[in-house]
Amino acid sequence: MSERCSKWIYAGSWLGHQCRHNDKVERDGKWYCGIHDPVRVAEKMKARDAKWDAKWKKQERQWKWLDAAHDLCAGVSTKTLIELGKGWLVKHLAEAEKENL
Ligand SMILES: [Zn+2]
Repeated sequence: MSERCSKWIYAGSWLGHQCRHNDKVERDGKWYCGIHDPVRVAEKMKARDAKWDAKWKKQERQWKWLDAAHDLCAGVSTKTLIELGKGWLVKHLAEAEKENL
């Protein structure tokens, strides 16, 4: 006998409704469709976490670089930096600060 996916969906209505997809896999006595298979969902979450990790590592590197840049430029006025031909750095720092807001 074919059962329906056990997933209860709350999106779209107050009381929610059971997933209308037919069963595909059985997990701990409950049936799930291909979309709501807990194992697949967990894998997707893991993939998403890995993506976030990579994103944060990149962000961290950027922040570290900016920290170093800030240290290097500490005590040097914007005017001096521009005069030294380092205007691009000022612009870069200003843009980075805008992004972090
Ligand atoms: Zn489902």
